[in-house]
Amino acid sequence: MADLHIHKVAVLGATGMVGQRMIERLSRHPFFEIVYLGASSRSAGNTYEKASSWKLEGRCPSSIKDRMVQDCSKIIVASQDTSISNPLEDIKIIFSALDSKVAGEIEDAVIALGKRNNQSVYVISNASNHRMNPKYPLIIPEVNPDHLNVLCEGRDFCKQAIITNPNCCAIPFSLAIAPLHEKYGIEAVCVSTYQAVSGAGYPGESAWDMIGNVHPHSGNEEEKLQLEPRKILGSILNDSIAFHEMKISARCVRVPTTDGHLLGLQIQLIRPPLLQNGNIDIEEIKNVLHNWKGHKDFIPTPSTPSPIIEVHENRDRPSPRFDCNAGESKTYPQLSSGMAISIGRIEPCPVMGLKMFVLAHNTIRGASGAAIANAELLLTKNLI
Ligand code: NAP
Repeated sequence: MADLHIHKVAVLGATGMVGQRMIERLSRHPFFEIVYLGASSRSAGNTYEKASSWKLEGRCPSSIKDRMVQDCSKIIVASQDTSISNPLEDIKIIFSALDSKVAGEIEDAVIALGKRNNQSVYVISNASNHRMNPKYPLIIPEVNPDHLNVLCEGRDFCKQAIITNPNCCAIPFSLAIAPLHEKYGIEAVCVSTYQAVSGAGYPGESAWDMIGNVHPHSGNEEEKLQLEPRKILGSILNDSIAFHEMKISARCVRVPTTDGHLLGLQIQLIRPPLLQNGNIDIEEIKNVLHNWKGHKDFIPTPSTPSPIIEVHENRDRPSPRFDCNAGESKTYPQLSSGMAISIGRIEPCPVMGLKMFVLAHNTIRGASGAAIANAELLLTKNLI
């Protein structure tokens, strides 16, 4: 990927759990320069270090810590009042890590401002608000880069658009089954999740619910996990997405780990690879997963790990503590770390045919790194 141009970017929701991971990675990115940090009016007017009270291991990046945080609600005001100047002028890439209670309205306001000023602008969103909107794609670059085609307007590419990245469990789920879907077809999947505390943002769940406990999800996590992979693995028909027909049954719980969502999958393949004795060929499945290089249209970017899927042989792996930062790259290790998914315990399942454990870092592969990878995808396609 030979893009030496530096692109100005904004981060909305910069102070939160995902926003901080985004700042950590963008501050070391070769192609992006952070020029706008947005959050709520509670944070606005403070330095980033003070507003975020940095919650990650290591220090708040020195290039960012003294920058002022802006109030994102001013984007909405500017979109409604033409006398107010655009706070995001000249910024074409807007990363959103906003709370979903406000993300929809603010992201729409960014698009409205871009349209009004005839300025190219792409919102890359972690929030769930627009994921099911048929106008906007739900993208994992390695899985469905072709879904950017829903943004075509005739022969041109839409100049103002929202590109969403999936739910933090839907990403490892889809990455794990994409190679199997390509080779064998998928009939149905049952999935149980063991999700880390950082997945609920900061301050997140109460200590009373989390310490010494396993906490079933009270929100709509299961519905998201049952639906989003069907859009991601869907096909493009006449510039719109036809959802994949596989059935998914999900149960989601939060467990007292810090980072890394673990998923137990039982998978029913349409054409499973069988040995002469009729058993499923587990070695072939391992090879297919380990050697997978992504969709035929995918071009690796700085955040792409090699391999994309790490296959484990030990019976006690993958586990969140030891494997959530997986992801190797000779060129950009600071960006590929945390971007690989880890799969282990690939075994025959007496009910569904095949079972495995899948693990990914929820705020990196499942959120910030996923969004940055989507922005890199737009660069490889020369859309920015
Ligand atoms: P979080 O820690 O609660 O952070 C939320 C962010 O939204 C903060 O920057 C907050 O700013 C900002 N915000 C809240 N109310 C606002 C308002 N009225 N106006 C402007 N900004 C406002 O949440 P998170 O875990 O980082 O998640 C961020 C988004 O990513 C959510 O949509 C979430 O569903 C999604 N997501 C999270 C994960 C994960 O693993 N955590 C994974 C995938 C996707 P203040 O600091 O000023 O309040």
